[in-house]
Amino acid sequence: MSTTPDHSLTQIDRSFRLEPTIPLCQTDLPLDWYQDEFKPYAEEFLALPDRDPATVLAYLDRYIIPAMDHFGDSLLLLAHFYMGGEIVKLIEHYGGGVADSYKLALMARESPEKKVIVESAVHFMAEAIAILANDDQQVWITNPKAGCTMEMLAKDDAVEPVADQLLERYGDELTVIAYMNTSGRIKAIAGRTNGAVCTSSNAHLVMRWALDQGKRILFVPDQHLGRNTAAKLGVPEDQVLTLPDPRGPIRLDDSEIDGGLAALDRAKVILWGSFCGVHTIFTPEMVGYWKSRGRTVLVHPESPLETVLESDGSGSTDYLWRAVMEAPSGSSFAIGTEGHFVRNAREQGALRGVDVVHLAEIPGSVSAGCGCATMSRNDPPHLAGMLDLLRKGEAPEINRVLAGDSIDETTMRRDRLDAGERAELIVQSKRSLEQMISIVEQSQS
Ligand code: SF4
Repeated sequence: MSTTPDHSLTQIDRSFRLEPTIPLCQTDLPLDWYQDEFKPYAEEFLALPDRDPATVLAYLDRYIIPAMDHFGDSLLLLAHFYMGGEIVKLIEHYGGGVADSYKLALMARESPEKKVIVESAVHFMAEAIAILANDDQQVWITNPKAGCTMEMLAKDDAVEPVADQLLERYGDELTVIAYMNTSGRIKAIAGRTNGAVCTSSNAHLVMRWALDQGKRILFVPDQHLGRNTAAKLGVPEDQVLTLPDPRGPIRLDDSEIDGGLAALDRAKVILWGSFCGVHTIFTPEMVGYWKSRGRTVLVHPESPLETVLESDGSGSTDYLWRAVMEAPSGSSFAIGTEGHFVRNAREQGALRGVDVVHLAEIPGSVSAGCGCATMSRNDPPHLAGMLDLLRKGEAPEINRVLAGDSIDETTMRRDRLDAGERAELIVQSKRSLEQMISIVEQSQS
């Protein structure tokens, strides 16, 4: 596979305009949010007179071009579709790759000549790249505080005790499906239970694969993606059970489980209770508002089931992007997903005569256009600083991503496994990632 996604943003007009003011949900970060090593780059950025492309690119060129000259073809810059529009365009401007989480995960493995991989997205994505990387490939993240709120509610110390209780009750019948938005430690639990990783583009394939084996599934962490996928596959509602709030300890007994242990025993799909704050704002009323105005409404499957059922279609960022880019001129959409993605789709759609609005942009909504704030903690100063520090051999070790690293996104305290534990984790988490790849490849053959 090419490192350039097949629906990449390479069509972006290189004379793009950065917004004159930073858009909603992506403000300049305060200086004290930067690591000490990054503060000089942030101070310089914050002192720039404006955010015009010429100004920002002149600033970035001073650091990025020497790093590109230094590392040559061994350097790979990556970003996710959900990044603020500026970072997506900047990564592309400097020849990097922009993709969804499935394609990002494969980037290192499919580009063995890339030895220094710099990711401007969330930590779990960088870790997935690191799990599949060869030993001579280094993965760095521009801001280790770029976490995912959904993943934060599914740390291994919360999930593992529940998985153990379920394994004790159901033995080999239980398998764990880990959404890509999990740490390597959770992906390793999936590997240990002969399960698989999934993304929103292939969750239906992975869940079908497990159900066809007669498995009982623990789906971690997104309850909405799990519920939507089960509904899409026709799993009866009474065979889908959501575990209690993951913010507290979970005991599997009659008093804690909704419907008691009898309901648990009936369930073929057991959902971890986490969610994405960006996607759970979407309501059936928003869908109705835009449909009544003639728009096609598409949503991401991290949205609630009732919203998905009302919409005209649901799918991954890849699906949403293609829908807009392949629609005939004159089409109009309301898209329910991360705000920066919708803004990029709106800009690119407009070039083709396709009109896009954000699903939450209805009268009275306070959330219109909101993006993933944690992912957007990767900004131009982080990119400039990371590349300059790498070139000088002074990159902070905390920005290096190894399989099994667990980061507290608030304090940036990192728990790193020892070499033996890490080797074991790589075996198990790679197993679950490769199982997903195998399921996807079989579906395409
Ligand atoms: S959009 Fe939601 S699920 Fe995606 S990285 Fe951000 S918080 Fe996590």
